[in-house]
Amino acid sequence: MNVEAPLFLLGLLPADLAIALEQRGIRCSPGEARQVLSRVISEGASDPTPRREPRRALVEALRRETTWQRLEVLERVPDEDGKSVRYLFRSPDGALSEAVRIGLHKPDHYTVCLSSQVGCAMGCAFCATGRLGLSRNLAPWEIVAAFLTVRDEARDGVGGRVSGAVFMGQGEPFHNYDAVIQAARILSDPAGGRVAKENITISTVGLVPQIRRFTKERQPYKLIISLTSTVAERRQYLLPVAGRTDLAELVAAIRDYSEVAQDRTTVAWVVLGGVNTGEDEVEGLRTLLGELPLRVNLIDVNEARPDGFRRASVTELKSFMDRLQVLGVPLVRRYSVGQDQNSACGMLAACRTLSSTG
Ligand code: SF4
Repeated sequence: MNVEAPLFLLGLLPADLAIALEQRGIRCSPGEARQVLSRVISEGASDPTPRREPRRALVEALRRETTWQRLEVLERVPDEDGKSVRYLFRSPDGALSEAVRIGLHKPDHYTVCLSSQVGCAMGCAFCATGRLGLSRNLAPWEIVAAFLTVRDEARDGVGGRVSGAVFMGQGEPFHNYDAVIQAARILSDPAGGRVAKENITISTVGLVPQIRRFTKERQPYKLIISLTSTVAERRQYLLPVAGRTDLAELVAAIRDYSEVAQDRTTVAWVVLGGVNTGEDEVEGLRTLLGELPLRVNLIDVNEARPDGFRRASVTELKSFMDRLQVLGVPLVRRYSVGQDQNSACGMLAACRTLSSTG
């Protein structure tokens, strides 16, 4: 460990903080570590000093050795209905990332769509972020900092309560697995964001080794796996990195996950007009459903697109949904709230639609 670098409090659990301070020769009991992190994460305070009997040596060490900085907010763009707000953040090294506050059906309740990377290496054909490539991973503290700013502004600005988080912003969460899981732990910790574990959702483009790891570790967070096509060549074209893996391997990983989670696996289907709504896909899903307990979330793409894809027409979508309903698969059409064509990432827009019905 580099003991010269400051400790980023927002990226730590209480046990991490106690150990890290001890490695620097500073005594910090588990109770003190919980108090410190409760101050800056749960309460969002601008000072980490424990409320109860703070020891002077600890307070001085916190000031000297740690930072609880947030990200700079460059932009807040509210949607037409004012329920969703897109945030653009700048990290200390200049990296830009986004998050979106999304209104849920329950009045004054929100969830936050979080990014996991700056850019993305997955190259999905319908996604602007994918065309940018990957700049770098976000650190746990950056992910948590984005959440806290959105949460605190919802509370202070509109009296709202943020009760969930979805990793569906820029980046592939499972390509930055350790940081995303650490951030999810902090968001759900009693001394952290205090979000119920079942209200944290991680969405993956379908990276099989990480799905298997997530299953093996019995992570308590919800998982959504992007399927988007059952036809191997088409899937590989639309999701070039995830599509390299044989569909049979993905199917096996989903089956194991469903067994461990004792639930259907939710798969996302980004609906691309004229591309993945045909009979071959219905047949592919029929075959999969013979083997797997699934629920399917259909997600619109943005209307105005520079990449040649288009949203399915009302008739096309209805016909696709009718045929899927005959298969008996639980199906959710997520109606979009405030889609924003300036959104950089196909899945970031999807995140808004997914979460809008919370
Ligand atoms: S859709 Fe998601 S996984 Fe695919 S390129 Fe965009 S950000 Fe990456």
